[in-house]
Amino acid sequence: MYDKNYHYVKLMEQPDRRYLNKYYKENKNKEIALVFLDIDNLKLINDAYGHIIGDEVLIYISKKLINSLDDNSMVFRFGGDEFILIFVNKTKEDIQNCIENIMSDANKVFRINNKEIYTTVSAGIYIPSRKESLEEIIRKANIAMYHSKQKGKNRYTFFNEDMDYAIKKKADLIIELKKAVEEDKEFYVVYQPIYNVKSRKIEAVEALARWNNNKYSEIPPSEFIPLLEETGLIEKFGLNIIKRIFRDIDSLTKKGFDIRFNINVSPIQLRNNDFFYQINTLMKKYGINIKNIFFELTETQILNLKEDKINEVIERGAKIALDDFGTGYSSIINVMQLPISEIKINKFIIDKIEEDEKARILIQAIVYIAGKLRAEVVVEGVENKKQYDILKKLGIKNIQGYFISKPKRVEDLIIDLKYT
Ligand code: C2E
Ligand code: CA
Repeated sequence: MYDKNYHYVKLMEQPDRRYLNKYYKENKNKEIALVFLDIDNLKLINDAYGHIIGDEVLIYISKKLINSLDDNSMVFRFGGDEFILIFVNKTKEDIQNCIENIMSDANKVFRINNKEIYTTVSAGIYIPSRKESLEEIIRKANIAMYHSKQKGKNRYTFFNEDMDYAIKKKADLIIELKKAVEEDKEFYVVYQPIYNVKSRKIEAVEALARWNNNKYSEIPPSEFIPLLEETGLIEKFGLNIIKRIFRDIDSLTKKGFDIRFNINVSPIQLRNNDFFYQINTLMKKYGINIKNIFFELTETQILNLKEDKINEVIERGAKIALDDFGTGYSSIINVMQLPISEIKINKFIIDKIEEDEKARILIQAIVYIAGKLRAEVVVEGVENKKQYDILKKLGIKNIQGYFISKPKRVEDLIIDLKYT
């Protein structure tokens, strides 16, 4: 048997996994549930008020956890600010109630050494339906806990197998991505025409990266770009992609096509001090005119970049296109203040223009402001004739979307350029 009091004192002092292993072994043939619980902002509290207050917070939460227990449950300190609770022979509802009580108990402003402290907890719950090792059970509850964090903290999530699949796939994709970036054989670039309704010509294209992986086939950029950013591989990838794009620009220019090229860049690339040096070298190599290059960045990305970086882009003659305008934050004030040469209105607004008058008014306002700023307006995601006609009436000149053309390989783009 345990000396619970001894265990509780230890719990508040330091993590001790031996008790956890022992408790699990004794109960593993019963129905158990494991809850992985993490204090949401202990690091902030430590940084702001020091470790002594941080330790007091741990003791405060430990006590709340201990108070929530009965004879069929137990709590263990697992790591710095991580706790594990094990429930034996309890229903899902019992466990849920217990966790909800702990959360509402924790979610209060309290005083330690005359300081007001506020903290919340996030939890992941796993109820194994078959025999699994303790390590595996903890891993799964931990995955569920991370989902709680991602959803905004201060909540609990039940583990499901899809989460496990997603995390294993992510780990595997990172390996594939690393190899693909090193070998630089699986990536390619497609170009989506931007059509000018007045001149009836394709006057620009947006370059979009594609990844055809040996194991998983085509993986969309919405999936692999964030992974590249997360792993720091984006810089090398970005440079390789730009190299491919420049090669294509070179061959298009030699064929006599004079168009603008919109290139998506991650702000991580721009922040790198070598970025423009590398770009310059490549430009010289391929004889590229930087005036034809628009770097696409979203509003948040531009706002997070240091002003000197933006100025560097402009001074060198390249231009900035404000990508995805109309989603997320999107402020007209920023449009007026940022040094942008083009505004790209996102599909989100275009999808509404048929039935929502406000969307049409917004587009007119953007066209008006862009005119005053001498910036181009491009609308993205135009999918049908009705949208196209409305946009034309609203004064939009540049149209991009499946209605005009899907993104295509350079060989097919050349055919389009010849015949429009
Ligand atoms: P984005 O910059 O907003 O690119 C527009 C996306 O909308 C593209 O998706 C394009 O294929 C899609 N699209 C265009 N017209 C239509 C339409 O009419 N209907 C619909 N449903 N979709 C349309 P894609 O190619 O999957 O790219 C997704 C995102 O990945 C891009 O969003 C961009 O942010 C990022 N990305 C793509 N290539 C690169 C790259 O080389 N570097 C970086 N940093 N990001 C890239
Ligand atoms: Ca874009």
